[in-house]
Amino acid sequence: MTVPFYGHVQQYHNIKSEIDTNIREVLESGQYVMGPMLKRFERELAEYHGMKYAAGVGNGTDALWLTFLALGIGPGDECVTTTNTFFATAEAIWIANATAVFVDSDARTNCIDPSRIEAAITPKTRALVPVHLYGQCADMKAIRRIADKHNLLVIEDNAQAIGARGDGFKVGDLSDAVCTSFITQKNLGTFGDGGAVVTNNEKVDREIRRLRNHGSEKRSCHSMGYNSRLDDIHAGILSAKLKHIDEWNDMRRKWSARYSACLKDARNVTLPCEVPGYRHVFHLYIVETRRPEHRDPLLTFLNESGVDAKCHYPIAIHQQEGYPWGKQARIAGPIPNSERNAGCCISLPMFPELTQQEVDYVIDKTLEWDRSAG
Ligand SMILES: *Cc1c(COP(=O)(O)O)cnc(C)c1O
Repeated sequence: MTVPFYGHVQQYHNIKSEIDTNIREVLESGQYVMGPMLKRFERELAEYHGMKYAAGVGNGTDALWLTFLALGIGPGDECVTTTNTFFATAEAIWIANATAVFVDSDARTNCIDPSRIEAAITPKTRALVPVHLYGQCADMKAIRRIADKHNLLVIEDNAQAIGARGDGFKVGDLSDAVCTSFITQKNLGTFGDGGAVVTNNEKVDREIRRLRNHGSEKRSCHSMGYNSRLDDIHAGILSAKLKHIDEWNDMRRKWSARYSACLKDARNVTLPCEVPGYRHVFHLYIVETRRPEHRDPLLTFLNESGVDAKCHYPIAIHQQEGYPWGKQARIAGPIPNSERNAGCCISLPMFPELTQQEVDYVIDKTLEWDRSAG
């Protein structure tokens, strides 16, 4: 048996007529960029978040850096973020010419550890950039408290957690803007690239709309901007998929619950934790080997058994050689948790279209390795 890591084609087949209808509507309309389908999807996306505005952009990285620009974050400004994330979070800070200050993640949730943030704050700090890693919200209540105390902006990197909630808050409630990505493998993904900024702040929304379209608010260009738009074809695909996102997230939660129930007695791996009261949407289901030297053997065993397990993310950002250390980045405090996670993490197959046989096969193989590892 083989178990894939993604189910994109299956997902397409499951709702083919809805997607095809929207694509055809765009093709027949003759309006492919900044057209009516984009407007419709933006309205639906804002509504889904219970927020006022949503603006489509070219990808998730642009969503972040255009938000930094829209909020006036630039050279000399510091953004405190987590070292345990996909590289793009840090990249967006770098593109905005701001300085990234990396702090450790929480040992259990792997999201930014709020207790480490205050030590990283300096007079130059402008913003906190939490990431809702693997599909679970960061501790936004604690982050908001720190932001209020130090008068900081909060920008949520929500590339991995559309539909997630915390205990008494949802994404967007406690921040200035929410940035998301629609690249294929995200929970809400198109057949290509895409992103969006969701906010209640009218000025941020207006500024994103200006920046993404060559600085133009009306017909004539009157200030500098960029080209980072969400094409109407992608908006149509996403509009069809958005109607299913809650049911798909429920399926992810169902498979996660099965993994966790059946692997709970494994001696050599630890399981992901869902904070009580939170709704984790399991963009990724990540186990850790208890010992770092077990990670590669387990990964190899699963891969050789036909299970397409992966590793997110094998190198924490503060350990990436490619990052511009010194001038535009610094590390605040020790980073033991992110380093442990990077060294021990394994992502098991996780997508809504998994079957019970596939999930059970992954469980069997993981337990088989676990017994052999002592
Ligand atoms: C995917 C991702 C991004 C970037 O999104 P792109 O659309 O690939 O630019 C940013 N942050 C996180 C945490 C991500 O997972």
